[in-house]
This record gives sequence, structure tokens and C-alpha cells, in this order.
Amino acid sequence: MKPFSYARPATPAEAVQAFTAAGAGARYIAGGTTLYDLMKLDIERPRHLIDVTAIQGMDAIETSGDRLRFGALATMSAVAVDPVVARDYPVLAEALWKAASQQLRNMATVGGNLLQRTRCLYFRNGSGNPSSVGAFPCNKRAPGSGCAAIGGLDRGQAVLGQSDACTAVSPGDWPVALTAMDAEVEVVGPAGVRTVPVAALYRLPGDTPHLEFTLAPGEMIVGITVPKTAAGHRSTYHKIRDRESYAFAIASAAVALDMDGDRVSRAHVALGGVATRPWRAPEAERLLVGKRLTPTVALDAGHAAFAQANAGRQNGYKVELGARTVADALTIAAGRTV
Ligand code: SF4
Repeated sequence: MKPFSYARPATPAEAVQAFTAAGAGARYIAGGTTLYDLMKLDIERPRHLIDVTAIQGMDAIETSGDRLRFGALATMSAVAVDPVVARDYPVLAEALWKAASQQLRNMATVGGNLLQRTRCLYFRNGSGNPSSVGAFPCNKRAPGSGCAAIGGLDRGQAVLGQSDACTAVSPGDWPVALTAMDAEVEVVGPAGVRTVPVAALYRLPGDTPHLEFTLAPGEMIVGITVPKTAAGHRSTYHKIRDRESYAFAIASAAVALDMDGDRVSRAHVALGGVATRPWRAPEAERLLVGKRLTPTVALDAGHAAFAQANAGRQNGYKVELGARTVADALTIAAGRTV
């Protein structure tokens, strides 16, 4: 048991103040489904926990304006069953339903889920001092120690966005759907309030894979907004995994389509399970515009999404699997009626 202090502020401003006052080693906690896990594995050792779950109203779900807004404390299960989300934005509802288990979805928040850390087995199997190499070298857990996945077991690793320092996959489903739908997060921190596109919340690993997010110290996510679009009706989150439930994606695709008659006028395509961050696929989106969505066009778009892929020793299967996942997702979405 590692000692830590615990605070339960009542407002976002109090939370930021508590975080700043606590200093080094402070962490926000909400549902706890990632952080407690990593504390038990001895990968995270916070010295101060700022529990934000007492903040009133930060779990609100608003669907009546010109955008959807989800308070960061709304649970994954609550958003998944919201009738407007389920009816008009199946890509969002499906990304939530296909994540984790019902028990976890009842606890996990839609804000916290955006900050989930990788499932790279070397990262999670590094028991020991988090600042030391541990069982395996891992630049994300112990910067500068190396990367056991490169030259090691890489079946689950990324084929897009990786670097010589890290090939770990971004594990989430929800962030992929939000990236496809041009969502933004509202952030509160010591410097005030700002808005960040979900796509810009994640860093590529580069030489510093331990720096995963673009949030500044003390910043917390208070809400998520999604612009309303008719493309939401023709959307889906298609997830391929080693078993049908309670498993992370080995490839996934979030897609939404605007159609002009039987031709695509605008496409939203993002990839999960294959890249080091939620991965927008503009090459696929451009290829689809103006086309009839035949099986050939759908597969061409899938291949375009992976044109820059670079596989390791055991994960080459993800390139074709990912392309076909995109193609299947496009076909499912196009078959949905507005
Ligand atoms: Fe660590 Fe990244 Fe290498 Fe996995 S891929 S061992 S997370 S540095």
C-alpha cells in the first residue's frame, strides 16, 4: 500500500485549486476504472488523488441544442442508452456499448475514458518501481529504458503512427467515434477554460511516448461536445476483436456518411486498434466523395486508410483486416436509413 492524500472538491474551480495546491504527484480521479487498475499494477503511484465525482451537474447529457453535450462525469452506460444518441448517432452509442463490460460502463465516465492508457503488455507487465525498467524496458513507463515490443511480441501493436521509441496502440473505442464526428472537449485548468478538438488531445509517441495527451498539468476535462450532423444517422462503430465481448479492438472503424442520392457527399472515417492515437483517415474520406458506395469502392477506401501503414513482425495482418473493417463499416452505415 502506497500512501496518498485524498480530496473531494465540489466544483471544477476547487478541483483545479486542489490539484495545484497538492503539487507533484497529483491526479484527478473519477470512475477509477483505469487509474486504480494501474495503481494496483504499481505503474501509477499518485501521491494525491483529487476525486471529482462530487461535482454536481457534471454528469449532464444535453441533446436539445445544435450540438450534443456530455458532461465529463456522465457514465458510458448512461450516454449509450440516451434515446437521442442511440437513435441519431449510432456510431457513438455503439462505440460505448462495445467497450469494456456492463459493470465497467456503469462506473467509467465519458471524460475519463478519453484518458485511458495503453494495453501494451510490456507497459502493463512492468511491476516494480515505475521509474525503473521493471520486468521489461518500456519508454512509456520508464522514459529512456527502451521498448520491449520492438523486436518482441508485437501482434497487438500499432501499424500507424508508431515511432522507434514506442508502437503502443491507443486502446479506446469512444475516442475513435468522437474523432470521426469532429467532437471537442471543454477543459478547465490553472490557466482558465479552453476547447480542444478530440483529435488534438492525443500526441504521437515520437521520442517522448510517456507524454500521451496535450493537456497541461492541472487541466481536467469537464465536457464533450459533438456537432449535430445528419451523417449521424448513417453511422456505425465496427469493432473486430479476438473474442466477441469484453476485449479491446484489434481493428475498428468509426464511420458516418452524408449521401446525395446514392452518392457519398461527405464521409467521416476514423480508425481504432491499429494506431498510436485515434486515427482520422482523410485519404479514405477523400476517395469516397462523389462515389456510389459499391463493395469495390468501400474496399478501396479501406486500403486508402492504410496506405501509410508500416507493420512489424507479427501484426501485418492488421493492414488487410483494418481495410476490410473500414469497408464493412461503410457498407453497414450506408444501409441505415435517415
Ligand atoms: Fe512501452 Fe510503448 Fe514499447 Fe509498449 S510499445 S513497451 S508502451 S515503449
